[in-house]
Amino acid sequence: MQYFADVLLPLALGKPYTYAVTSNEYAILKPGFRVAVSFGKSKVYTAVVVKLHNQAPKRYTPKFIELILEESPSVTIKQLKFWYWLSNYYQSKLGHILRAALPATFLLESETVVIKKEISDQKKSTLKDDEFLIYEALDVKALSIKEITEILGKKSVLGLLQEMFSQGVVDIHQKLDEKYKPKLVSYVRLSQLILKTKNLEEVFDLLKNASRQKKLLMGIFEQNPKGNEWKNSKELLKKTSSTSDVLRTLISKGIIEEQTIREDRSLYNYKKQHQKRQLSEAQHKAFKEITKAYEEKSVVLFQGVTGSGKTEVYMELIARSISEGEQILYLLPEISLTPQMVERLQGSFGEEVTVYHSKFSVHERKEVWKNILENNAKAKIIVGTRSALFLPFHRLGLVIVDEEHELSYKQFDPSPRYHARDSAIVLAKIHQSKVLLGSATPSLESSFNRISGKYGWVQLNERFGKVALPEIVTVDLKLAHKKKQVKGGFSQTLILEMEKTLAMEKQIILFQNQRGFAPLIECLDCGHMPHCHQCDVTLTFHQFTDQLKCHYCGYQIAVPKKCHACGLTNLTTKGMGTQQIEEQVAALFPEVEVARMDWDTTRGKWAFDKLINSFATQKVKILVGTQMIIKGLDFQNVHLVGVLNADHLMNFPDFRAHERTFQMLSQVAGRAGRKKMRGKVLIQTYQPHHPIIRQVIQGNYDQMLKQQLEDRKEYHYPPYNRLIRIEVNHSDMETAKKASQWIVNLLLQSWDGHILGPVFPPIARVRNRYRMQILVKIGADQSRGRVKQIIKRTLEHFESIAVFRSCKVNLDVDPY
Ligand code: ADP
Ligand code: ZN
Repeated sequence: MQYFADVLLPLALGKPYTYAVTSNEYAILKPGFRVAVSFGKSKVYTAVVVKLHNQAPKRYTPKFIELILEESPSVTIKQLKFWYWLSNYYQSKLGHILRAALPATFLLESETVVIKKEISDQKKSTLKDDEFLIYEALDVKALSIKEITEILGKKSVLGLLQEMFSQGVVDIHQKLDEKYKPKLVSYVRLSQLILKTKNLEEVFDLLKNASRQKKLLMGIFEQNPKGNEWKNSKELLKKTSSTSDVLRTLISKGIIEEQTIREDRSLYNYKKQHQKRQLSEAQHKAFKEITKAYEEKSVVLFQGVTGSGKTEVYMELIARSISEGEQILYLLPEISLTPQMVERLQGSFGEEVTVYHSKFSVHERKEVWKNILENNAKAKIIVGTRSALFLPFHRLGLVIVDEEHELSYKQFDPSPRYHARDSAIVLAKIHQSKVLLGSATPSLESSFNRISGKYGWVQLNERFGKVALPEIVTVDLKLAHKKKQVKGGFSQTLILEMEKTLAMEKQIILFQNQRGFAPLIECLDCGHMPHCHQCDVTLTFHQFTDQLKCHYCGYQIAVPKKCHACGLTNLTTKGMGTQQIEEQVAALFPEVEVARMDWDTTRGKWAFDKLINSFATQKVKILVGTQMIIKGLDFQNVHLVGVLNADHLMNFPDFRAHERTFQMLSQVAGRAGRKKMRGKVLIQTYQPHHPIIRQVIQGNYDQMLKQQLEDRKEYHYPPYNRLIRIEVNHSDMETAKKASQWIVNLLLQSWDGHILGPVFPPIARVRNRYRMQILVKIGADQSRGRVKQIIKRTLEHFESIAVFRSCKVNLDVDPY
């Protein structure tokens, strides 16, 4: 009898490869085991076993695997199932999914770089010969695994290196983490040993003649009579005007104990754990309804207005799940939101909360992975961004997708191009667990699914504390310009409201969408933007060709010299950015502290938290920002929210522009007046009577939904039709055009469906490659599986054509 293992390699391969194994290995191995295999001429890779069998491949003689890398599998059967689904649904290569799913240390391969760690002489003496040889060689410089293999003259060193890594002798170097150095923060409290063995008087007695030490110690007891809560050392030193020498002395005397933790890991005081919050009546009702809905549906859409306290309801559900011994996955759209949410969750669940996202170091990822795989008490509630879907859940009971409508749940590049919300639902199905989709402004897809009865639906229409939703008013920019009541981006009305708010000692958020930078042509006199005559979208400005183009049908015109609507020549090509807005605010209110939050100002690792802090502590009075500021942030003192120009949102060339406008404006409005006093929102726009603006003002989600669904149906867009985008790129524009046209022609031969394009996307050239896009629209009555098959076959055929060899093709299923 012969023995074989099919393994997944972390390469752009579409299917598993078969390797031979010995009967001994066959007896040990199970799907999910990591093994080292050689592939190609001399390269060694870590691969994951997916199947064991006795069928010799017909076309080739398989090589033997090199090594089994572990004693028990790192990957679960359920994960494998999930990966196969992703690969099939999103048409991405299994190898790409493997890369996205496993922490880099799990995927040692020839190119991985190994660096040495400083270890004690004693530890050095315990190294085995081979290990010592490697360690010595690493003294000179970091080495790739390939180089190490050559030094040792062995075929596979992965097992050895894995062992050295586990023992903390070497580090695995991954490009992503190159620059990542976590900052450590020190926290101190009264030594718990002292607390147990001596009484406080005795302690102070010890310090009779050390007034500076005594003063510092007093600081520890401030608002903390027992001294058992951790305090930030830096703040403590500042408050008590002490020096760090004094603190060191107290630590060395054993009176104070210290703990350093990473800045992004909040250390929390276990004391606080028990102040459990009481759900309001409305929240309790929602909680009951959700649990009831789960009796019939496994997915529930939880639609709660901004400030209704959805998080409190989530926590109640989490508590219920925990008591059943289940794991909970809590998905957030952005890394920047995790610290706040983790703090809130830790307040109730303490150590059971763990975090996972792509900025984690390789060590941390591995640690979290293990904890979850082993179902440790430390990993019951996993808070993370979309990559957390790939963790080896053991007993997943509940998945919460917070702000489910957020665009950032979609991964655009690289492959796998998946949607985390949709994938979460499939993951939950594999685990037979429940899903809660939370949002104040659900995506059209999710609302569509609850209308059709696929999802349960629970609403929470009352803000916590019964604070009224803010009053929303518009400022007609066209009129204001006419009356010459506009200064830079600010109407008189907005300036007046800002003055009033500042006089009340309240804070202001000014929202300017990033999409203001979308290359559009706008008339400064009337606000007109040229539209496509065949589609309901704005034409996009292409600097490269000096043209305006429609991204849906390909219609194009030369950039006009004067406005088509009013005939004047005051045309401009860009919207106003946050930076200009910030400068104008500074000029209008020179004595007030302003800050700006956008991609530029939050690039540093902690920049986001610092900004949030300076606004939360009210040092900053006016915050200017892009959509970053609207996501789930909870500031208490914001009275006024100003939207500088809503038109850029509405006119964005995308079929979701109106839906997204409604979502963004409602969310940004939701930042106003969250405590006690009713807030105010001012929307500046050239189209104050636009239905979307009216719907935002009235908070009429249902009407927005109804109207948008009608439009989507009429124009064959999701959720009625499904979209697949094929992108072809090549360094030569003509080749890219020809290749994409070739694909369209071939597709149309086997399918009589709806295909748009090929067209150039707004940014036609990226890294010197020209891109062409094809949009395939699949009707509700057409088989998605069949269309995917046709596309797959077409692309396989395409790859075999010599002149198109150097073309790259990307596939994006549900590219929105
Ligand atoms: P949402 O996410 O629905 O916009 P949040 O969960 O951020 O709302 O809650 C809004 C505010 O109300 C927060 O400051 C929160 O701390 C507070 N809050 C909500 N529910 C409760 C409760 N049951 N007890 C105390 N405070 C609450
Ligand atoms: Zn068009």
